[in-house]
Amino acid sequence: MNHFETKAGVLSAEDLSLEALADAHGTPLYVYSAATLRRHARLMQEALAAMPGLVCYAVKACSNLGVLSLLAKEGVGFDIVSGGELERVLAAGGRADRVVFSGVGKQQHEIERALREGIKLFNVESAPELELIAQVATSLGKRAPIAVRVNPEVDAKTHPYIATGLKESKFGLPIDDAVALYRRAAIMDGIEVAGVAFHIGSQITALEPFGQAIDRVLALVATLRGERMNIRIIDVGGGLGVPYAGETPPSPSEYGKLVREKLANAGAEVLLEPGRVLVANAGVLVTRVLYVKKTAYKTFVVVDAAMNDLMRPALYQAHHHIEPVRSRGGSEIVDVVGPVCESSDFFAKARALPVVEAGDLLCIRTAGAYGFSMASQYNTRPRAAEIIVSGDRAQLVRERESVESLWRGESRLDPSM
Ligand SMILES: *Cc1c(COP(=O)(O)O)cnc(C)c1O
Repeated sequence: MNHFETKAGVLSAEDLSLEALADAHGTPLYVYSAATLRRHARLMQEALAAMPGLVCYAVKACSNLGVLSLLAKEGVGFDIVSGGELERVLAAGGRADRVVFSGVGKQQHEIERALREGIKLFNVESAPELELIAQVATSLGKRAPIAVRVNPEVDAKTHPYIATGLKESKFGLPIDDAVALYRRAAIMDGIEVAGVAFHIGSQITALEPFGQAIDRVLALVATLRGERMNIRIIDVGGGLGVPYAGETPPSPSEYGKLVREKLANAGAEVLLEPGRVLVANAGVLVTRVLYVKKTAYKTFVVVDAAMNDLMRPALYQAHHHIEPVRSRGGSEIVDVVGPVCESSDFFAKARALPVVEAGDLLCIRTAGAYGFSMASQYNTRPRAAEIIVSGDRAQLVRERESVESLWRGESRLDPSM
C-alpha cells in the first residue's frame, strides 16, 4: 500500500498534486511519501513482534538524509556498505549502535571510524578482512563485534545480478567454510564473535528461500554454540521483493510469521536488513514529456528523465509501472525513452499507455528503491531534485544539481603540460 492516488483527476502524493510539485520544483523529480515510509517501517517492526530484534534499513536503497532521518526517528537501525553510508547515517541523526556494516571491501579507515563510533556489528565477508578488523580493533584497544556472512547456498530465484547467496557469489563465505573462520575469530584479540549473518539476494518473491536459508544457518549456529561460541545475534539480511509488475511477494506480516516461527526460540537478537521493501513504493519519479516521435514503426515518448536518473530498466531489464499524472484517456502502444545516447536508455518498451502529448507529466512508480541512490550524471545531466511529502506539506530534501557543480574539482589542462 502507498499514498500516491488520483484525486480530482490528478495523481497526488498524499495531499499534494504531482502537477503542482513538478511546477514548483521542475522535472525530473523524485517524490517520496512520508506516510508510506512510516507505514512500511512500522510493518517491518511489527514483523518482529515481541522477538528481540532490530530492523536495520539497507541505506543503499535510498540514502537521502531526509529519508534516513525519518526512519531513524521511527527507531530503525541501518545496514551500511561503506564508510560514506556511515557518515550519512550519522549526519541524519542515526545511532551508531544500531548500525551493521556489510560489504566485501571494507577499508582500514572505514573500519577504524566504525569502531570509534561503536557500531553494533561487522558482517565479515573474508578471512583477510577479519584479520584487518582484529588488527585495527587491537590498536584502538577495542573489541569488534563480528558475524561472519555466510552463503546458505539457496537459490533466491531472482535476477542473476541481484542473487547473492550462491556458492559462486563474491559475497560472504560458503557456509561449510565458515566454522573454520569462526574458530580463528574466537581466539583473536580484538574480536568478539557475536553472530551469524546472511543475505541471499534482492527482489525475492517467495518465502521458501528465506526458510531454507534460516534452517541452514540455524544448523551452523548449533555447531558454533557447541564449541562454546556466544552467538547472540542472527542477521537474516534483506531481500523481500515488491510488486513492480504484478508479482505477489510475501507481505511483511507473512515474512515476519516465518522469521518468528523459525527464530523466536533461537535465543538470539534477530536483525532484518530490508531495503527495497521499505522505500520502493514510497517513491515515484515524475518526468515531463519532451516529444512524441512517431515513425513508420513505432511511437516514442521522449521524456526528460533518463537512465542516469533511474537505472533499473537499463541495468536489470526492470519493469516500472508508468502512468500520466493527468490522463487524457485513449490508449497507444509506445516506447518511453530518455534523452541519453544509449539504446538501453528506456523506461518501457511496447507499453500501452493513455495518449500523451508534449508537456504532459508521467509518473514512474515504485522508484524509491535503487532509484536516486543509483543515479549518475552521465551525459552531464544534473541529478534530479528529491522531495518528501507529508500530508499537505512538501520539503525539498535534495536540491537539483547545477550544471557547474558537475565539473567541480576538474580543471582545464595547464598549457605548459
Ligand atoms: C542490499 C542489501 C540489503 C537490502 O536488500 P533489499 O533487497 O533492498 O532488501 C540487505 N543486506 C545487505 C548486506 C545488502 O547488501
